[in-house]
Amino acid sequence: MSDQNGQRDRYDIIVVGAGPAGQSAALYGGRSRIPTLVLERGIPGGQLWNTAEVEDYPGFEHIMGPDLAERMQKHAEKFGAKFETAEAESISIDGDDRVVRTADGREFRAPAVIVTAGGEPRKLGVPGEEEFAGRGVSYCAVCDGAFFQDAEIAVVGGGDSAVEEGTFLTRYGSRVHLIHRRGDFRAQPILVEQMRATGKVNEILNTVVEEIHGADGRVTHLTLRNVDTGETSELPVGAVFPFVGFTPHSDVFDPEVAEQIEIDESGHIVTDQAMRTAVPGIFAAGDVRSQFVRQITNAVGDATTAALAANAYVEQLKHARAKQAA
Ligand code: NAP
Repeated sequence: MSDQNGQRDRYDIIVVGAGPAGQSAALYGGRSRIPTLVLERGIPGGQLWNTAEVEDYPGFEHIMGPDLAERMQKHAEKFGAKFETAEAESISIDGDDRVVRTADGREFRAPAVIVTAGGEPRKLGVPGEEEFAGRGVSYCAVCDGAFFQDAEIAVVGGGDSAVEEGTFLTRYGSRVHLIHRRGDFRAQPILVEQMRATGKVNEILNTVVEEIHGADGRVTHLTLRNVDTGETSELPVGAVFPFVGFTPHSDVFDPEVAEQIEIDESGHIVTDQAMRTAVPGIFAAGDVRSQFVRQITNAVGDATTAALAANAYVEQLKHARAKQAA
């Protein structure tokens, strides 16, 4: 993409991250006919690739997360957004330009950047977790569930992800053990009901995983500790899926920008209602943003706001420049 000076890699909007929020920003940017680039380091779709079944996205009573991811990308591309595979390493300021540098040494410029970089599953941080990652420890039920047909499967956590993905894993496992550190789930009651209706989930409450054990490159069992009694026990399982929250990718700014951007206590980027961060021209939406709920629907809605606000910002900037030049 070239501007009127022939400079390459210049856009009006750069979107960092192509989960549902990034895809929506791309769709609205492209549809507004403004040059829009999306940078994504992996496969577009973000956490949709870690989500087995989606039942709460209007218009789709039931769709697999990866299917929705592919549909969203095709839709954004249809309106002209350009996708590049690249990892955004730093976002900095150069006059009116917001400059995105990538891990492979490239540089992209635009007056507006929308950060929709999402985040990644939080780790349990227990011995054995790293060692057996990809060999029985997995953070993606839809990717890896089928490898554990008729196995005893452990899921850790008590939020929407643990309960929803635990329900999905009952398709494969002979039994799913849901291990939660408290007595109550924070997951939505409808999800807990669906999980209980399978009749295949063994709830192990007030309990944490102390260690993941294995042999011959495979998970064999867990050491559990009851947090009330301190008693430890062993649970034989072939796989363990931790779903214990999410770490946002909010560390994408160079130091000069980072000190101006407000980040909340859990590491999420704070914006106003138009998705503007404290730095003009830098917007944020989706799971990386500080907010009350983290649903696909509100990621998509907030990214729509971000794209339209970024569009307005770019137009104002162009107008001001034209006035100065006149
Ligand atoms: P979450 O809501 O933050 O829940 C994390 C769970 O893991 C909590 O139950 C927490 O326990 C537990 N936990 C945290 N650290 C732990 C540790 N070190 N050891 C053991 N347990 C630990 O995370 P999430 O379920 O991934 O969901 C993230 C966001 O996405 C939420 O806003 C959620 O509503 C949304 N989401 C929505 C849907 C849907 O609507 N269908 C599906 C998936 C996700 P405590 O409860 O004791 O804190």
